[in-house]
Amino acid sequence: VIEQGQPEHSVITTCAYCGVGCSFKAEMKGDQLIRMVPYKNGGANRGHACVKGRFAFGYATHRDRITAPMIRETIEQPWRSVSWETALAFAAERIKAVQHRYGRDSVGGITSSRCTNEETYLVQKLIRAAFGNNNTDTCARVCHSPTGYGLKTTIGESAGTQTFESVMQADVIVVIGANPTDAHPVFASQLRRRLRQGAGLIVADPRHIDLLDTPHAGGGLHLPLRPGTNVALINALAHVVVAEGLEDKDFIERRCDADAYRSWRRFILAPDNAPEATAAVTGVAAAQVRAAARRYAAAPNGAIYYGLGVTEHSQGSTMVMGIANLAMATGNIGRAGVGINPLRGQNNVQGSCDMGSFPHELPGYQHIADTAVRRRFERAWGVSLDPEPGLRIPNMFDAAIEGTFKALYVQGEDIAQSDPNTQHVEAALTALECLIVQDIFLNETAKFAHVLLPGASFLEKNGTFTNAERRINRVRKVMPPLAGKEDWEVTQALSNALGYPMDYRHPAEIMDEIASLTPSFAGVSYAKLERLGSIQWPCNDDHPEGMPIMHAEDFPIGKGRFAITGYVASEERASRRFPLLLTTGRILSQYNVGAQTRRTANQLWHAEDVLDIHPQDAQERGISDGDWLGISSRAGATVMRARISTRTQPGVVYTTFHHPHSGANVITTDNSDWATNCPEYKVTAVQVEKVSRP
Ligand code: SF4
Repeated sequence: VIEQGQPEHSVITTCAYCGVGCSFKAEMKGDQLIRMVPYKNGGANRGHACVKGRFAFGYATHRDRITAPMIRETIEQPWRSVSWETALAFAAERIKAVQHRYGRDSVGGITSSRCTNEETYLVQKLIRAAFGNNNTDTCARVCHSPTGYGLKTTIGESAGTQTFESVMQADVIVVIGANPTDAHPVFASQLRRRLRQGAGLIVADPRHIDLLDTPHAGGGLHLPLRPGTNVALINALAHVVVAEGLEDKDFIERRCDADAYRSWRRFILAPDNAPEATAAVTGVAAAQVRAAARRYAAAPNGAIYYGLGVTEHSQGSTMVMGIANLAMATGNIGRAGVGINPLRGQNNVQGSCDMGSFPHELPGYQHIADTAVRRRFERAWGVSLDPEPGLRIPNMFDAAIEGTFKALYVQGEDIAQSDPNTQHVEAALTALECLIVQDIFLNETAKFAHVLLPGASFLEKNGTFTNAERRINRVRKVMPPLAGKEDWEVTQALSNALGYPMDYRHPAEIMDEIASLTPSFAGVSYAKLERLGSIQWPCNDDHPEGMPIMHAEDFPIGKGRFAITGYVASEERASRRFPLLLTTGRILSQYNVGAQTRRTANQLWHAEDVLDIHPQDAQERGISDGDWLGISSRAGATVMRARISTRTQPGVVYTTFHHPHSGANVITTDNSDWATNCPEYKVTAVQVEKVSRP
């Protein structure tokens, strides 16, 4: 793919990188994509774009693309290219053989937040209807599953409350554990525009992020907390609000459950939640916490944006509930300029959660144990559904090592690189008797696979993505699939090979089925998407054109429920053996494990992951900029080069995870969120020492 010449035609589609969901005009010359031009009518981006969506699309025609299905009897054997029919028959026979030998529940699958809503819906349907169990999970497990739990518990809906544009009416913007400049660049531009207009900024992050350098007339505050202490900080902020009588009493009375509020009020006023008490835990001075709480509570409109620095902790779900508590206590929900806004990492994290990928929820977050819900799906799908939730991803790994889980279908996720504690993941994958990987590249996970089904890039398929503001955007086919099939067609063919018939002719038909079974999608159709451009769910009879801002009058659960959010220290603590805390994040030019961006010119901007270390910690260890470092944790060890940086605080080191050879996840542990098993990527106790060049 090269940028040249005048286009002959163009196709409007959606970026497949981050959760902002920018619309693009893909400009074509013949069958060649020559340019991606940000689309001025795009609901999320209004003609803006970042360096990833704009330029990093060449991976779609990279020579590494897999163009034919491959199989092998054992992972020691070389791959054999075969026809689609042979590969799918081989995969189906293996799954059947495993189920025959080890039982129905010995197989499962993982959906991808990179794939479309329709593809994700189909994979979970395949697992529930054709495999006959609920062993379905999504890569959102390892990023925003605590958002699902925390928001559903408190405000009744597992989704952000606002549109991105709403930030332009915020007076104080709170950013917690997120770095939008690198991870959500187009939204970050909008946010900076609002800061320049005079909104105040509060950042809670162990690192000094770029946003803090944006001129903000409304004043800025950085709360540089220690990794793993989010909950202590959010409780301290809420303590100040309540103790100083800064609550929105009218909102609490009208919109929140009175008993839950009374219990929470008693809890939050306890002396150990006071900022003077939490300072020793968080490292943030009480005066800073008090100033931040007063500023947020006093603002006419206070908006909270958060990222994986909130969710990827052993108390990720608790922290999400803590954020909801604070927003409810101050009445910052239900109008423009306020709200709780999870910044979703991948393009379709919201969608993969909406589409029933989790083992306990059918599409639309309808619980599998609810008999009426299950009956509705059973009638539509013509099968009996298991009422018991299935295995989550980490449970699948554990069960594989124990020998009770034997076959796995993974669509569009590189679990061997992206999940924590690589050694544990690899041991699980090695123990499988059948691993089916569907991907566009021979990724790290494929090294353990028996069947490789070529995936289609976002340019080669029709469907929809749902962005972080619940906006359903159309994805339109720009070029034919390199291997001849879109991903939904592959899942459908596998289902048919297994004996459970599927017969969709276009993703529009899959969306029609989703709409018929999912109340929040009841009014969604491709025809309406063509007419409106995009739709923010819920979209149904009450809101036929969608709902940009949620919870204006009530919550789906009626009254908002304050939750008790006691702080529990992470098991990962600095010790004599591992005295530093490692936290991880992303850089603008690369994306996640880098499978796509490393195969584009973006690689030139960031060719390796490095370890940011504070000058004080570096000096103690005799480390200079560019030195090779050995980094070890209780999970494993790796090497990286040093970058001396004052963006981190003493005692905290930081790296990105875009390159497989540096293997950041070799050292992250398998600690996880108590409620959802989301891994604690953001806190790993490590030792760092200078080593000779590897
Ligand atoms: Fe794509 Fe996100 Fe960049 Fe928009 S901000 S172009 S969605 S990577």
